[in-house]
Amino acid sequence: MQLNNEQKNMLKLLPGVDNLLEEFGEQDFYKEIPKSVLTSSIREIIEKKRAFILAGEDVSIDGLQSEIQDLVQDKTTPNLVNLINATGVVVHTNLGRSLLPEAALKHMSDIASGYSNLEFDIESGKRGSRYSIVEDIICEISGAEAAMVVNNNASAVLLALETIASGKEVIVSRGELVEIGGSFRIPDIMAKSGGILKEVGATNRTHRKDYENEINEETGLLLKVHTSNYSIVGFTSSLSLEEMVSLGKERSITVMEDLGSGTFVDFSKYGLQKEPTVQESVKAGVDLITFSGDKLLGGPQAGIIIGKKEIIDEIKKNPFTRAVRIDKLTLAALEIVMRFYRDERAAVSEIPTLKMLFMKKAEIEARAAKVSIILTEKYGDKIEVSTCDTQSKAGGGSLPLMLLPSSAVTIKVPGKSASYIEKKMRYSKPSVIGRIENDNFLLDLRTVSDKEVESINNAVANILEKKI
Ligand SMILES: *Cc1c(COP(=O)(O)O)cnc(C)c1O
Repeated sequence: MQLNNEQKNMLKLLPGVDNLLEEFGEQDFYKEIPKSVLTSSIREIIEKKRAFILAGEDVSIDGLQSEIQDLVQDKTTPNLVNLINATGVVVHTNLGRSLLPEAALKHMSDIASGYSNLEFDIESGKRGSRYSIVEDIICEISGAEAAMVVNNNASAVLLALETIASGKEVIVSRGELVEIGGSFRIPDIMAKSGGILKEVGATNRTHRKDYENEINEETGLLLKVHTSNYSIVGFTSSLSLEEMVSLGKERSITVMEDLGSGTFVDFSKYGLQKEPTVQESVKAGVDLITFSGDKLLGGPQAGIIIGKKEIIDEIKKNPFTRAVRIDKLTLAALEIVMRFYRDERAAVSEIPTLKMLFMKKAEIEARAAKVSIILTEKYGDKIEVSTCDTQSKAGGGSLPLMLLPSSAVTIKVPGKSASYIEKKMRYSKPSVIGRIENDNFLLDLRTVSDKEVESINNAVANILEKKI
């Protein structure tokens, strides 16, 4: 390849790696930085410049130092970072679902930093079971005979199906063959578990006789799946849990329910749409129930399996259990979160997910007004800030049609699009994730805490900066 003189000159201007290493080694900023990180950062930036020069682009080496510093900073800060969820979606799967209560965090930290009786029975001095840590409290709150917990609800469903229905037929209504975001589909999980899916009914209607007609010697399970992320409305009919239980009893077939986002609180008491509660399913006599720990429950990621003792004992013996085992930090957090449910008032005031879901619009409105005033005072000459009514979502594949009246701050910058503002806020540190609605950028304050307001302030400053 022929280089022109300008290119040759520019290449000559590029400093050598060793020279830069020596130069930076003197600076305070790099004192704590591992040498390997500094070296690779210098190499990467110089290589990038060289490639640009060879491609015939106009390259400036003025910003070299700060580019290297940015890259070093990038490599030495964790990849998993906190951000501000101003989407108003409370159980946002992509943003980490549920936030844990303070007391749960404290307990997690204590358990993480010391040895524990995770699988040790202090009384007998012998080996214990990790499931016993939360089994009693889960049974106490739910009314179930037995309980166990695994990595998440997807693994709970897989494990339960594999234990009860491998090689047998599992009857499910066509209206309940759900797909949860992130490629969890009931038919796929069924296939992996060895269960043979038998779909019955039509998408909108399934009757008792549909199940009855499908039952034979090969039937191992009747499965009900809570259609938590969509709703079939209009001319619909499905078998109630009670009817399904009575059918199961009559024909001696196990009945299982995948509740998805399990809740112990009756949402309708707080002005929200009714969601089936875990206690109701237990009371209906379902043999086995599974649900998530980090959806409406507001705990850590976990899959909770409750039901008849003999079935839970069977599942505990399944070798797959070990492969989807729950971690001790999760157990630590889950135990504390579950204890809040002994007193519903405590649960509602201490568990962030419930607090945010049940937050009154007036409270969010007051927060929006406050943020709007702060931003207007600071940036009012450059941007337009106002408040507006909006609707938040519960999220997490729960309460599909439930919109929660909320309040938001909208930000407009003359000459800039909503997507430009969205990007700038997202690129800020910490990132602020808002929503675009009708071409307006807005921050739904249901999911923003008071202590995060400062970060919003920083992010707005970032919109006004030239650098992207
Ligand atoms: C969310 C959900 C799952 C998966 O639960 P995870 O805890 O995300 O693994 C399974 N079934 C239903 C019905 C759900 O809503």
